[in-house]
Amino acid sequence: MMRFTLPRDIYYGKDSLEVLKTIKGKKAILVIGGGSMKRAGFVDKIIGYLKEAGIETKLFEGVEPDPSVETVMKGAAAMREFEPDLIVALGGGSPIDAAKAMWVFYEYPDTTFEEIIQPFSFPELRKKAKFIAISSTSGTATEVTAFSVITDYAKGIKYPLADFNITPDIAIVDPALVATLPPHLVAHTGMDALTHAIEAYVASARSDFSDPLALKAISDIYDSLIDSYYGDKDARGKMHIAQCLAGMAFSNALLGIAHSLAHKTGAMFDIPHGCCNAILLPSVIQYNAKVCADRYATIARMLGLTGNTDKQLTDALIDSIKELNKKLGIAQTYKENGVSEELFKQHIDEIAANAVLDPCTGSNPRKIDAEGMKKVLTCAY
Ligand code: FE
Repeated sequence: MMRFTLPRDIYYGKDSLEVLKTIKGKKAILVIGGGSMKRAGFVDKIIGYLKEAGIETKLFEGVEPDPSVETVMKGAAAMREFEPDLIVALGGGSPIDAAKAMWVFYEYPDTTFEEIIQPFSFPELRKKAKFIAISSTSGTATEVTAFSVITDYAKGIKYPLADFNITPDIAIVDPALVATLPPHLVAHTGMDALTHAIEAYVASARSDFSDPLALKAISDIYDSLIDSYYGDKDARGKMHIAQCLAGMAFSNALLGIAHSLAHKTGAMFDIPHGCCNAILLPSVIQYNAKVCADRYATIARMLGLTGNTDKQLTDALIDSIKELNKKLGIAQTYKENGVSEELFKQHIDEIAANAVLDPCTGSNPRKIDAEGMKKVLTCAY
């Protein structure tokens, strides 16, 4: 038996934030990050809309870029005190990821991270609150996914949480929130979204439900990412939807080794997640093509790339991704991104071994061991 899960409702397009005026509930906790959304006036707007709906709001702010166990526990304690029936999370990936984990510890105060680390092992949520996610970047798509990443800094562990219980009830995908994103963030988050879509299209858990979402996301990202990078408003809106489609695909089809390696190299070399994916994607396609060149060829044909064989079409897809990186100002290798040969050699064994254990490795279409990971990494270097 297979399962395909998405939010109950997705509100999208111009002024979709205003749906908050019509939400049913009594008390909402609004979880946000560092304050950019506050400065841009969106926090006041949201609190105002909820007030119109007769909902009292408490603000929980200061979720850091890679949210910690401490922040999650602090948020859960604030929720237990305030007793909201709505959790509203606003931001790029982090505040939404953190709020998803807070939700678990709000409803189940006695549970531990160790108990929920096993994928799809969560207790049943929605006993106390429903969850609304509002995305302010166009990449992670955490507003529609079953995932959250929380860091235990004391133990040096990242907990990648996965369970359909934390797929939000409502996602709001309003283009106004990404209108002023700086270009380098558009580039990195956009390449993250493209990697989500391409990995989902070839992942072992792909399905007839996820395939159309992945293909449409890839097509729309190719159509709009460059213009979005240069600030075109319509393209920003199209990218915001496309990254969400990619999220709907990968939340169910899962990902592959570009993400396994991006998780480990991002932390080790201090390179943004989307930038790591952009560096890795061509080498990963090269590696996986041995078992799914036909799938890459389908993507290439859809994009209007030319070639007579699956191999030629896969090569054309790889070239087009490198071209895209170039146009977005993303240097193609780790070396060009400032990683010294010494540092790379010093850590390659450790990165490769850890990447094999990453949850995304299990759904990669081609099996891989540490030696294989080292080869892919060396290509990307
Ligand atoms: Fe990602």
